[in-house]
Amino acid sequence: MTEVNPPSSGRVVIIGGGVAGLEALLALRALAGDRVELTLVTQNDVFVDRPMTVAEPFGLGSAARHSLPELAAESGAEFVQATVVAVDADEHRVSLDAGPNLSYDTLILAPGAQPTAPLPDAITFGVEGSGEAMREMLTRLRRGDARSAAFVAPSMTGWLLPLYELALMTAHDLARNNVEGVHLSLVTSETRPLAVFGEDGSEIVARLLEEEGIEFIGAAGGTQEVMVGVSGESLAGDYLVTLPVLRGPGINGVPGTRDQNFIPVDEYGRVEGLADVHAAGDAANFPVKQGGLAAQQADSVAEYVAASYGANIDPTPFRPSLRGMLFTGEDPLYMRSGVAGADPDTPDAWYPLWWPPTKVAGRYLAPYLFERGDGEGIGGPPVGFIDVDIPLAAVTLPG
Ligand SMILES: Cc1cc2nc3c(=O)[nH]c(=O)nc-3n(C[C@H](O)[C@H](O)[C@H](O)COP(=O)(O)OP(=O)(O)OC[C@H]3O[C@@H](n4cnc5c(N)ncnc54)[C@H](O)[C@@H]3O)c2cc1C
Repeated sequence: MTEVNPPSSGRVVIIGGGVAGLEALLALRALAGDRVELTLVTQNDVFVDRPMTVAEPFGLGSAARHSLPELAAESGAEFVQATVVAVDADEHRVSLDAGPNLSYDTLILAPGAQPTAPLPDAITFGVEGSGEAMREMLTRLRRGDARSAAFVAPSMTGWLLPLYELALMTAHDLARNNVEGVHLSLVTSETRPLAVFGEDGSEIVARLLEEEGIEFIGAAGGTQEVMVGVSGESLAGDYLVTLPVLRGPGINGVPGTRDQNFIPVDEYGRVEGLADVHAAGDAANFPVKQGGLAAQQADSVAEYVAASYGANIDPTPFRPSLRGMLFTGEDPLYMRSGVAGADPDTPDAWYPLWWPPTKVAGRYLAPYLFERGDGEGIGGPPVGFIDVDIPLAAVTLPG
């Protein structure tokens, strides 16, 4: 930090009550104490532990739900339920869809990404109603009314792990119910299963798919076939299951990348061209969209902002480390990748992100939610998961 006489206090407004917004809120309160006056602005008033939603259709667990006004109050933050429609960075002001404008000294944008359904007639897991559609699919497969399902990756970006989880848990569910003869496939433009997790991780996932009888159709197996699968055309099957395609939030006054409108940021989450504005999480332009990474970005932002208000801290730039937990529906299975070739700044045993063992990532958020323990259905992970820990510097990111 180069500022000679930094201000000793200021008003920080955080947009978004998801993983990144809440991690920033908790981290800032912990690091900056009462140097910052905090306001959380978000569209909804409930935080849902989204990664856990994949277990719900299978009856293997349920996503915790937490009241955002309560979470804000516990961090001494003002809570405003509204949608931010514009940012005026020159005036240090945000406009809301309802209510008066808000002024800020520092703005943290964590509004997530906009999901859209990529394939007509597919179940797009993660959009409204998709949990119910999955339950209906399972019922029909169990009864023999449908005989196949293809799990189709919409693109190599985003976060494909839930698609693999859904395929594995479907296979496991059918086996548990003694249903035979259902053809399940996983169609992706990756060359090998969950390629982002590197060779070791990928091998384990490949073995799991094979054991569960799920056909893997990847780019290495024939580009033509994958393209047909990815476009959703003529895949012989009763069901297609896919994930949403993500785009940036598109808030007026906030820059976006040309292709997908994600907010361009540097390693401290500073938004290109806007003074005193940061962004973190799925809304920002890092290509892998994942809760753990969203939290790591939020931590870098919080450290930078805390230091800018005089907190005695040397901010750590965002150095992504990918950590995941894969639900399989089987007995618990852990996996940790080697860290050969990793960025030397990235520790191979990461600090307590992974304890407690929930799917909500975040150095501050995970232990906080676990201790709070009052969310509906909160608990340990459901049966069957693989724990994966990979510094991203060690793997090739999808483009
Ligand atoms: C089915 C599924 C399974 C997943 N599994 C995993 C997993 O196992 N592990 C993992 O790490 N990640 C997983 N992810 C990804 C993870 O959920 C996201 O990466 C993470 O939620 C991103 O956090 P975020 O805070 O950036 O955005 P979000 O969680 O999307 O939060 C955005 C917040 O901003 C609010 N908001 C949006 N626009 C505005 C606006 N204009 N004004 C005010 N508020 C606004 C929203 O209401 C919301 O509160 C999964 C995702 C899905 C869909």
